Amino acid sequence: MAGQGRAIALSFHGAARNVTGSCHLLEAAGRRILIDCGMFQGEADSDRLNRAPFGFDPATIDAVVLTHAHLDHCGRLPLLVARGFQGEVLCTRATAELAQVVLLDAARIQEEDAEREAERALRAGRAPRPPLYGLDEACAALASFGRALRYGRSYSLGAGLTVRLIEAGHILGAAQAVFDLPAPDGTGRRRLVFSGDIGNSGRPVLRERARPPEADWVVMETTYGDRNHRSFEESARELIEAIRATIARGGKVVIPTFALERAQELLFILSRAVVAGDLPRKLPVYLDSPMAITATAVFRRHPEAFKLPFRRELMAGADPFRLPRLKLTREVEASRRINRQEGPAVILAGSGMCTGGRVLHHLRHNLWREEASVIFVGFAAKGTLARQIIDGARTVQVLGETVAVRAQIHTINGFSAHAGRDELLAWHAQTGRPEITFLVHGDAEGGMAAMAQALERRGLATCRPRLGERFVLAETSPLQASGRKHTSPRRH
Ligand SMILES: [Zn+2]
Repeated sequence: MAGQGRAIALSFHGAARNVTGSCHLLEAAGRRILIDCGMFQGEADSDRLNRAPFGFDPATIDAVVLTHAHLDHCGRLPLLVARGFQGEVLCTRATAELAQVVLLDAARIQEEDAEREAERALRAGRAPRPPLYGLDEACAALASFGRALRYGRSYSLGAGLTVRLIEAGHILGAAQAVFDLPAPDGTGRRRLVFSGDIGNSGRPVLRERARPPEADWVVMETTYGDRNHRSFEESARELIEAIRATIARGGKVVIPTFALERAQELLFILSRAVVAGDLPRKLPVYLDSPMAITATAVFRRHPEAFKLPFRRELMAGADPFRLPRLKLTREVEASRRINRQEGPAVILAGSGMCTGGRVLHHLRHNLWREEASVIFVGFAAKGTLARQIIDGARTVQVLGETVAVRAQIHTINGFSAHAGRDELLAWHAQTGRPEITFLVHGDAEGGMAAMAQALERRGLATCRPRLGERFVLAETSPLQASGRKHTSPRRH
């Protein structure tokens, strides 16, 4: 390791040729900064990847910069702390508040899953699997959250490194991260930009993303690198139409919902539709997600993050999430009662990709009913139950039962919190002509490949790193230092 201390290097420990588990290690001026520490979700080997060693020693990490509070970006923080990380987690205040909701929820789900699994193991006579982590580990991770960073300001990370977060327009508190680093050869400063997850423009609640600065190196997400979304308003109309048709059939509408952002946006759309007379005032709407309920409360505390009309409404004391028959169901018993209720209703429940959570029991009760509908409004990774249903499976396994899929299935992608292809390319163009762009957080054959092709057509160098790969971006050696034009960084 001697002589490596001053090089600028990047290594990839998640979201490498897949969508989840974001975790990237930046080494510069002898400091070691982790960008995100997310959980792998939905893939067949997610559990194994989450339990595996990190690929670096957590005790050697000086700080974590967290771009936003989605589980696939913050979900392994409890493991990082449990395995020796002693530094500070840095993020915006809203991200810290949401990360608390997300990590405590993740710990609870894992403890509950582990209990169920222990019963099965007992019956099968095998050793039970412990949870990935529990509430104690989640709380310890939350105790390492340090300074709350404000958008647009530079903060020192020591040894001449600074980080500046700028708005990503993705979910409340989300950021792009701009690192300014001392060049190892003493020739000034170099810049590395991490996109984080980039938001989709034209949504009604959150402010739009900020423009990234020009950069020497870029790490960017590619979730929707291969397609554009329909507009938000068009999607809102499609949603209301699907709900009206289901009401006419007398069925229930199940919307697997991401608790952050999507749930709040959906409430806003439903509330608007009721005011406009497009949905009946007496339609019961259930927000069946304790996490979404708490997250909605966090939203109300951050008017600074919203677009003006929404903010004005909030500041004037109005409730943009108001619905005449909205029921927030925190208790499990209240959640169960929903399915004993006759007649149409809209049920928003997590998780969005149907990998767990209360949506599973609503699916079990409704998927087989012709009059019901299931409306997917977000990204569904390969291998998830959501993806199977979207891809047209005739039967699926839900909570250990085989369930026929007879309900109407809708996929409405215009609510995505992710930028589509054209917006990703526009974002990238604003970073100038970086020496190299690392593509992460996308399907290797889908969005990631499409984005690589598009950038290479513009004459830009790209790289799709594999899990654990490390790249030296700049060294003190005169050969590398004088050659700013070198096109591909050295794999190391
Ligand atoms: Zn995200």
